[in-house]
Amino acid sequence: MKPSEKVTQAQREILDAVRTYDTIIIHRHIRPDPDAIGSQVGLAELLKNSFPAKRIYSVGSLPDNLSFLAEMNHAEPSDYHNALVIVTDTANEGRIDDNRYRLGQRLIKIDHHPGEDAYAETEWVDPSASSCSEMIANFWLAFPEELKMNAQAARLLYAGIVGDTNRFLYDATSPDTMRTAASLMEQGFSHTEVNHQLTQINSKVAKLTGYVLENLEIRPSGAAQIVLTQETLSRFGLTDADTHSVVPLPGTIEGVTLWGIFVEQEDGVFRCRLRSKGPVINGLAARHDGGGHPLASGANAKDLAEIHQIIAEMDELGANWQERSTQ
Ligand code: AMP
Repeated sequence: MKPSEKVTQAQREILDAVRTYDTIIIHRHIRPDPDAIGSQVGLAELLKNSFPAKRIYSVGSLPDNLSFLAEMNHAEPSDYHNALVIVTDTANEGRIDDNRYRLGQRLIKIDHHPGEDAYAETEWVDPSASSCSEMIANFWLAFPEELKMNAQAARLLYAGIVGDTNRFLYDATSPDTMRTAASLMEQGFSHTEVNHQLTQINSKVAKLTGYVLENLEIRPSGAAQIVLTQETLSRFGLTDADTHSVVPLPGTIEGVTLWGIFVEQEDGVFRCRLRSKGPVINGLAARHDGGGHPLASGANAKDLAEIHQIIAEMDELGANWQERSTQ
């Protein structure tokens, strides 16, 4: 079945709401990744192209490393008066960037994370989608007569899919994902340029890559971990925002089934970037002030003792996984 053949009630409600409102303000999560920006600004560009008379804003802070994708808009509090607010790619209300999302008249959530907070009147949540960008592209494909795609929107949505699937490598990549990506590629942007922009690293991150591979601790259970302190990051001239490209690295090593990259923040708390090739890790993340997908989650550890606790839990998950795999 093609993605376009699955028009849902939620998709119809969202299109009705879009038709009704003159002002639409789109938010997404803090610490954005390519899927957050791709789904947010990809939707904004799709709607601008389809409804040129509407005022459409994308808001939130944008890290320098994603500025090649898009720019954010400035919306005044008064712009929220009688506005439709759409939040993309954000499961938990506490992670929405820019807390003015409640100032609008109606709130819609579009997300691919397993359902967590129900915070909007209309929620379209599809955990089977590889990315929120894939969902926005499917929204277009569901209403091709009314929604008009262009190269700029397609580029953003394609970037979001490539980002969240790690270039179509992860399990969440389905035949539908490939069909949807193909429809986007037909819109006339340079996919090789986007791929290049998404995968290129600077020489400082290249050195951090070497450090991570050199210092990663791999346990017999298949659990692997590394702590990146503020001191280490500043030695490489990097910040937390630069760590995304080293996150997939441990998964390329034979025998590693789940891993954590623990990044110390300026306030001393550790951001835990957790990934897995098998054992489900979002339960573990939820026990440590986090959440996410079964195989890609995030959490927060208040100190090294909590990191050791998380590693012990990862070790147990890895050992159980090994045991089941050998049965
Ligand atoms: P990250 O390592 O920050 O790229 O996060 C991986 C996944 O976990 C993403 O899908 C996030 O949405 C989710 N995630 C990260 N941090 C948190 C958090 N503190 N609470 C809930 N979900 C999170």
